[in-house]
Amino acid sequence: MTQLRRDPIRGHWTIIAPGRMSRPQDFKVEVVEPPKNGPCPFCPGNERLTPPEVESVRPVPSAADSPGWVVRVIPNRFAALSLTDGADETLLQDAGELLRSQPGVGAHEIVIATPEHHRRAANFSVDHWDTVLATCQYRMDQLSRDPRVKQLLLFENHGAQSGASKSHAHLQIMGLPMAASASQQRLVNARTHFQRHGRCLICDVVAKELDAGQRVVVADDAFVAFAPWASRLPFELCVLPRPHHASFLKVPPAERRRLAAHLRDVLSGLETLFGDLPYNWMLHTAPIHEEEPRALHWHIEILPRLGPVGGYEWATGSYINTVAPEEAAAQLRALRGA
Ligand SMILES: [Zn+2]
Ligand SMILES: [Zn+2]
Repeated sequence: MTQLRRDPIRGHWTIIAPGRMSRPQDFKVEVVEPPKNGPCPFCPGNERLTPPEVESVRPVPSAADSPGWVVRVIPNRFAALSLTDGADETLLQDAGELLRSQPGVGAHEIVIATPEHHRRAANFSVDHWDTVLATCQYRMDQLSRDPRVKQLLLFENHGAQSGASKSHAHLQIMGLPMAASASQQRLVNARTHFQRHGRCLICDVVAKELDAGQRVVVADDAFVAFAPWASRLPFELCVLPRPHHASFLKVPPAERRRLAAHLRDVLSGLETLFGDLPYNWMLHTAPIHEEEPRALHWHIEILPRLGPVGGYEWATGSYINTVAPEEAAAQLRALRGA
């Protein structure tokens, strides 16, 4: 018997329909590398192929835009949003009440996460993950000072099926001129819950998940990783801080290091089950000038891309998931005991 479940944080519905595919070996994970066009611009020695860096971590001091870095941040050459381009007048012609538009003002940066072309994020050391997260946090903090930036996003696309255009491991930071539409419903759900109950929605969800235990992969006093109740995709995971924090920008170094360990562990757990699988992960943090930080709780969603998303999902905004989140969590927990 299938079951319809509603996600309390995002508001979507999922049909949990286990049976047909539930074990890791039922999924045929094909390693599809993004197409190669000439030398990799993210490799050391090819710095001239990218726009000038805005930040880099160099254990031994060396010149900007030269090798020697372990993490390097550059503006996206094909930025979806920009703080420096002039507004494109041709795109503004249809502006009006019905067909609204605004200039694509915002920021879009690439965090080249390793100098090693074939090193995957799931195999970074915890120290290196911490360096990557610290660099992202620093750049996000810098971008948050621009009054035109209202919301920050951090994400990684890995594998061609996830939308990655380069195989060299990289994260992306976007500074949006408005709260992202995908995060709007989350904001509405969180604020409504806070007005009704005077408590944070995610804190309440975490308390229930820890109490139930079946969907929890790992929990300590700082972080919890669990498979959400209405997981949209097989082996979807959520990683978030147990103490209430609205903004990732304010996470202190000791806590960030714990996050580095958890993120590395869950990504490498997925690799143990599926090999080099395509995935997206996204970090959701409160809008920069949030008036009610008690209502919002930053968190990371990890979406393994083990199969295509089809017409049902596009038509309804709901999902059919063939692996119950309880089963996904049990398999990931078993790895930790192994
Ligand atoms: Zn490369
Ligand atoms: Zn909270």
